[in-house]
Amino acid sequence: MNSIDFAQYNNIVIKVGSALVAPDGHSCSTQFCLPLANFIKKCQQSAKKVTLVSSGAVAAGFNTLKPDHEHLSLDEKQALAAIGQSKVINHWQRFFDESVAQVLLTAADIQSSHRSANAKRTLITLQQYGVLPIINENDTVAVDELKFGDNDRLAAQVATLIEADLLLICSDVDGLFNDNPHTNSNAQLIPFIDEMTDDIMQLGQASHNPQATGGMLTKLLAAQIAHDSGTDTIICNGKTEAYSRLFQQQNPGTLIRSHKRLQTNSSPSIRITNP
Ligand code: GLU
Repeated sequence: MNSIDFAQYNNIVIKVGSALVAPDGHSCSTQFCLPLANFIKKCQQSAKKVTLVSSGAVAAGFNTLKPDHEHLSLDEKQALAAIGQSKVINHWQRFFDESVAQVLLTAADIQSSHRSANAKRTLITLQQYGVLPIINENDTVAVDELKFGDNDRLAAQVATLIEADLLLICSDVDGLFNDNPHTNSNAQLIPFIDEMTDDIMQLGQASHNPQATGGMLTKLLAAQIAHDSGTDTIICNGKTEAYSRLFQQQNPGTLIRSHKRLQTNSSPSIRITNP
């Protein structure tokens, strides 16, 4: 049985990748974002708190300026991110009647106890206002995730910060497979993981999709951060709107369950399967 008790999640961080926000040369596209915005509204109508972590600034800036070369220097990526970020936030705002809020953070902000406490208070106050926080890395001052493509990790750190119960990573892959689905057509999707073992991390490397910004490994590393702090993670395909299955209590991809939640949530409604 591949079911999920979605009703148990009340505080959700949703991470959306560049491939969904600025696909196929568009600076920003409604194709994948509009259905996701409708899903977010449905979550909010079900009294779930939602925080969105949206990539796409560099891609939107690139697709706006259309530089004549693809291998960008770090400075160029930062400048393109500055151009694209306003497009990304305006793009998301169009889907919501209520205001959305732009929050730009760095890993250093989260590591500093003082700054992370400020960020946490801001995010919680935005939730109390019923305003959707839309977070991205502050690419002007932070370069690590531009080097590693790692907004997944930022999303996991945010989930930890605001004590989210679910991190939903919307990617362009269906989840984690037991082999590379690009080279092995018999590769099977792993629906449930409850231990972030070395073997699982190895699978992340094996199933790396060269077209994905961060690849599966960064998603698993993010899931590991969430797992250790009591947040479940779901990796699913945002292009196929797999997340919408959650309202039918169906698992849309790979669910990585946190031990801490397993210990505190005694509901046996989810079957855990070791791959
Ligand atoms: N901050 C980058 C952007 O918005 C995201 C990099 C990533 O996807 O990890 O383009």
